[in-house]
Amino acid sequence: MSQNPHDHRKLGRELGLFDTDPLIGAGLPYWLPDGAVVRHTIEEYIRAVERRAGYQHVYSPVLGKRELYEISGHWSHYSDDMFPPMDLGAEQVVLRPSLCPHHALIYRSRAHSYRELPLRMAEIGGMYRAELSGALGGLTRVRAITLNDAHIFCTLEQVAAEASSALSLIQDAYQALGIDAARFRLSLPGPGGKYIDKPDMWRRATEMLREVLTASGLDYYEAEGEAAFYGPKIDVQITDPTGRESTLSTVQIDFHQPEQFALEYIGADGARHRPVMVHRSIVGSLERVVAHLIEQHGGAFPAWLAPVQVAVLPVGEGEIPAARAFHAQCLDLGLRAEVAFPERGSLGARIREARLVPYQAVIGGREAADGAVALRLRDGRRLEPLGVAEAGKRIAERVAGRGRGLWEG
Ligand SMILES: [Zn+2]
Repeated sequence: MSQNPHDHRKLGRELGLFDTDPLIGAGLPYWLPDGAVVRHTIEEYIRAVERRAGYQHVYSPVLGKRELYEISGHWSHYSDDMFPPMDLGAEQVVLRPSLCPHHALIYRSRAHSYRELPLRMAEIGGMYRAELSGALGGLTRVRAITLNDAHIFCTLEQVAAEASSALSLIQDAYQALGIDAARFRLSLPGPGGKYIDKPDMWRRATEMLREVLTASGLDYYEAEGEAAFYGPKIDVQITDPTGRESTLSTVQIDFHQPEQFALEYIGADGARHRPVMVHRSIVGSLERVVAHLIEQHGGAFPAWLAPVQVAVLPVGEGEIPAARAFHAQCLDLGLRAEVAFPERGSLGARIREARLVPYQAVIGGREAADGAVALRLRDGRRLEPLGVAEAGKRIAERVAGRGRGLWEG
């Protein structure tokens, strides 16, 4: 396998995005301020997209009683990946291996009419996987996972539309984040006892996902042994720079957990019916998506995600007041900006140091006198000096538009 020039573990440390400490433990990375900015920005984007798409956000605890996972089926089908239970007096609690059981119970806590469906419940929440220490590394194999999760409770007739609009959300997010989907996979059960034994249910759910994929016009392939234990799924596969493939986003159809938790809604006929659960994740886990973005962009994140969006570079001491004023203006516009003061080295050295910052605003004597800045873009382009108000406004517009390009043209 070829060397990965942008190994996220190395870059993450060099760029001050995340790190680990043996005393915290393997597979339990912490986020440094610049990495936390990237993650927070993605979370804000996801919540905004989900709100517009009619999702409601909840919070639920990362622990649950052992019985909860016995009912959901995780205990019998997924316990190899779960942390051992903790004894608390007469009961046992477990770090959750997924959010679905909590969301099923939140749904069940209130009566629902068919008029409320599809009911889309979203949470960016923690889940845990007891990976062996040999398999752990960076942000891609971790024991504590933050999942961009959602469960859509809907009628059978609504499943296809919900699954296909989840696919659209995934594609929009990839466009904004600069992620290319390598391929789409229909993940089916395989041999062995890992999967619940309800052949009829598998057949129905698989047929529905095939129809969704066909209607969306996406090329896809089918793979056995990759399904969730409770149902088939569409996996969106990505590749790292060495060509290694992994799953980032998923859309799943589940008839099993609604039955296990006896979920219901009152239909138009006044009778009780069972909803279907569509599980979906737009960007997968925050850990994996940030690892992928680091490798894909080599640390040069799209401007709206960059930890620092504007580096303000006064040429000499005399330009510091003008630099401070432009810096304050950028902060007022909601931009993340920093001043690289002359004491940090020559202008050339400071520009090199800011090479991953999308916008570098150089202020020399002439710019300071004219109330202007000379913008240099990360891609090497140099723009004619612009008035400070105009420069700030145009950078803020590019950032708000979440485009891949740094400037028009
Ligand atoms: Zn789920």
